[in-house]
Amino acid sequence: MYDCLIIGGGPGGITAAIYAIRAGLKTAIIEKLGIGGQIAVSDLIENYPGFPSVSGGELMKNFEDHAKAVGAEFIYTEVKGIEAKGDVRVVTTGKGALETKTVILCSGAQPKRLGFTGEVEYLGRGVSTCATCDGPFYRNKPVAVIGGGDTAVKESIYLSKIASRVYHIHRRDRFRAEKVLIDRIAQRPNIEILWRHSPVAVEGDESGVTGLRVSSPETGEREIKVDGIFVFVGIEPNTGFVACDKDPQGFIIANGNMETSIPGVYAAGDCRVTPLRQVATAVGDAAIAAAMAEEYVSALDGRSYENAEKV
Ligand code: NAP
Repeated sequence: MYDCLIIGGGPGGITAAIYAIRAGLKTAIIEKLGIGGQIAVSDLIENYPGFPSVSGGELMKNFEDHAKAVGAEFIYTEVKGIEAKGDVRVVTTGKGALETKTVILCSGAQPKRLGFTGEVEYLGRGVSTCATCDGPFYRNKPVAVIGGGDTAVKESIYLSKIASRVYHIHRRDRFRAEKVLIDRIAQRPNIEILWRHSPVAVEGDESGVTGLRVSSPETGEREIKVDGIFVFVGIEPNTGFVACDKDPQGFIIANGNMETSIPGVYAAGDCRVTPLRQVATAVGDAAIAAAMAEEYVSALDGRSYENAEKV
């Protein structure tokens, strides 16, 4: 029986493990692929305090080493489901069922991909899905933004304050973003909206992106010269395995203590409903979640908790 099982080995999961282990909880991190999460493939991070400029891989290696130094146990398998049986939480995995008193969900989310040529090859080298992370690399340079939802319009406005020019590419002739954002984007003099346009292929060389080929039914195919391409066509949370309360997109609803609708199950980082998805926010969420898990386990151990077999 574990005190705390953490689902996901990204920044949130590793932070939760460090805090839970140091609080004396018998803890393991369950990870499907490799430690580090999405950020491990990020080229450069310049907004994680204490690391003015660091690659995602290097930052996550430090996180992993820290977790190992405090004695973290890693279990490499996929989580299939989580069930509450009295006071026991049963985590079903590809390696069988594990019992625990608490679970911290740090399973993250991933940006949707469009599938244009070069989108994946240039990821982290000019193609980005995070304006907060990568926008400042394009100061006084032209960029493209793709998408028509709240995120795309909001980030286009943000990028227009940094970049020299923003070419905003959307497949339809209207945004689905909320009106206040549509009004705001219309007021930005350096944003050119390319309605009914789609990305076709990244133009680039060893140094990175030099342009984007776009097409539209009216003007056919052409190249726009940009140094950065930001794709915001939605993100998908990795939360299908847990049946707690979620928003319509599947993001987990957790309160300020990171508690989900299932007692003893917490959520931290990108998989939960949150206004910002960053390493710094995942780390903060996870520290709170682990502290709350420790309080929960202490309360549980203070009484004789209900055994799974009795339920
Ligand atoms: P979203 O609302 O799902 O919008 C995705 C956008 O990507 C849509 O404009 C869609 O085009 C476009 N798209 C999807 N697949 C595409 C494809 N294959 N080719 C071209 N375009 C494609 O995603 P989101 O903007 O990330 O927002 C997610 C949720 O968070 C929403 O509920 C949103 O309201 C919320 N949010 C709120 C705020 C806020 O400040 N209130 C900020 C960010 C996000 P179509 O429009 O043509 O379908």
